[in-house]
Amino acid sequence: MGDYKFSWKKIIGNSETVANLKKFSVEKTFPHAVLFAGVEGIGKRKVAETCAATLLCENLIDGEPCGTCDSCKLMAAGTHPDFYVVEPEDTKAARNIKIGQIRDLQREASLRPVQSDRRVVIIDGAEFMNKAAANCILKTLEEPPTQTIFILLTANRAGLLLTIRSRCSMTLSFEKLSAEQIYESLLVQGIDAVKAQKLSVIADGSLGRALALEKSGGYEMRDDAFNLIKQISSKALTDEIIFAKGKIWETWSRENFADFVTYIQKILRDIYLLNQSEVYELYNVDLKENLAAIKIPEKILYKMIAEGTLAQRRLKSNANLRLLAESYLMRLRLTCK
Ligand SMILES: [Zn+2]
Repeated sequence: MGDYKFSWKKIIGNSETVANLKKFSVEKTFPHAVLFAGVEGIGKRKVAETCAATLLCENLIDGEPCGTCDSCKLMAAGTHPDFYVVEPEDTKAARNIKIGQIRDLQREASLRPVQSDRRVVIIDGAEFMNKAAANCILKTLEEPPTQTIFILLTANRAGLLLTIRSRCSMTLSFEKLSAEQIYESLLVQGIDAVKAQKLSVIADGSLGRALALEKSGGYEMRDDAFNLIKQISSKALTDEIIFAKGKIWETWSRENFADFVTYIQKILRDIYLLNQSEVYELYNVDLKENLAAIKIPEKILYKMIAEGTLAQRRLKSNANLRLLAESYLMRLRLTCK
């Protein structure tokens, strides 16, 4: 089944870590509790699911889940009775894994596996367990049900209770992907080469981020941000442009506008770094020459970045988005006067 959803061949990056996990899964020597650590969008969840599919498959072919046994079909349908995922629930106030979710999990994990001879549990976003939930899972990790394997995923290792980290028999660090790996992977997903090239550079090592940017038109947003800075620095940003932008931004979500400000901040940071004599890694490598052509004195760059920080802060208040956005641009323009 070349096209089965869970395949080791479909995983990009972190080849050594992935090879080890494949070995544990195929040889059924998987540790009872493992922690995967690394930034969002680099494939931790995909790898964990592939581990699960491999551990549960009844008929591995060359170390790959067969794709045709009952277990594989249930995995693909997302209804495998021995596979359990816990992830944060988003509420307006916060992302959280609550104690109730952990209790449900414990009830489930205490039962015998139904389809297979073992059970796999993924806790994605483990750092979002609130204190009660974290203390609750701790007991389970201390005395894990014999047939159950726990895979905890986190983008913020330091946000996890130390006691939880120490209960995991193994911590594996997932590294960011290279721009080439992201580029290749985007091509495979049918994204055209020019777009893929741009996205791979600005995604900062995360395929998930590249895909999210593709969906939301994020790279266009980045180019927009660059053009704005160019207009500001060349004193070409007129009131008319600001008001026209304001009209568009009024229809955006606050999150989108926050992303936009982040792009501006990163562009300003890159311009600053290009002024330095040492070589630093730029966020917007593909714009290097264009960025180097923009000359803004250091003192003014600091002020502009401070305006961005202020705008980000105001975005979290109830301030009207359009007014806030327009005033942000006017204040940026003022710093370059
Ligand atoms: Zn199978």
